[in-house]
Amino acid sequence: MRRRLIAGNWKMNGSRESLAELDGIAAAAAQAEGVDVAICPPFTLIERATARVPALPIGAQDCHAVDKGAHTGCVSAGMLVEAGAQIVIVGHSERRAAQHESDAAVKAKAEGAIAAGLTVIVCIGETEAQRDAGEAQIVVTGQMRGSLPVAGGDRLIVAYEPVWAIGTGLIPSLADVGAMHRVIRGVLIELLGAERAATVRILYGGSMTGDNAADLLAIPDVDGGLVGGASLKAATFVPIIAAA
Ligand code: PGA
Repeated sequence: MRRRLIAGNWKMNGSRESLAELDGIAAAAAQAEGVDVAICPPFTLIERATARVPALPIGAQDCHAVDKGAHTGCVSAGMLVEAGAQIVIVGHSERRAAQHESDAAVKAKAEGAIAAGLTVIVCIGETEAQRDAGEAQIVVTGQMRGSLPVAGGDRLIVAYEPVWAIGTGLIPSLADVGAMHRVIRGVLIELLGAERAATVRILYGGSMTGDNAADLLAIPDVDGGLVGGASLKAATFVPIIAAA
């Protein structure tokens, strides 16, 4: 069966001082049997984070598709591995929007990450306008076909994050989350075959907190959470781990 994963995405937040939050998070993770926990801090904190809490998987929030070369300002998956990262998030909606990342670019990053030995969390999700237009499932399905790597096995993770739910305090109805995760599982089966699709975890992301996590995680095919704001402090992240 799929183990639950609660992954924190610190985005462009955190400092050396905030690494102290990892102590409480790592302690809660050690207590939570059957639940995987990970934190994705900014690049600059990855190495220190792994040194501080060696048992807690640490990840990054992006990588380049290729191994090395003339790509000023970019970081490759191999470099992340050397820094101690085990996971990378690719295709977050903030990067799809602000860095104009296409499905094809996200897929190339995911493939590079898997080739380098990382576990990859590929993010998908519709905007509010797309949902209002009744296109949420079409958009999400299209993103999956365009941005999921064909390889990866259980090192491939999908995060469904409705863009309008990120950082807003809004979440879809539990029925809508369930319906979308069912659709996502169906597309995974179509793309990867039933056996492999059954190993891929589907996370929900967008305003997950200690108050709503238990309800969200009780939905079939919700295999965990990708948590932004509430992952910055142990006091708000640990209740989500406990709910899982
Ligand atoms: P949020 O962010 O939990 O702050 O809504 C989630 C994300 O963007 O991954």
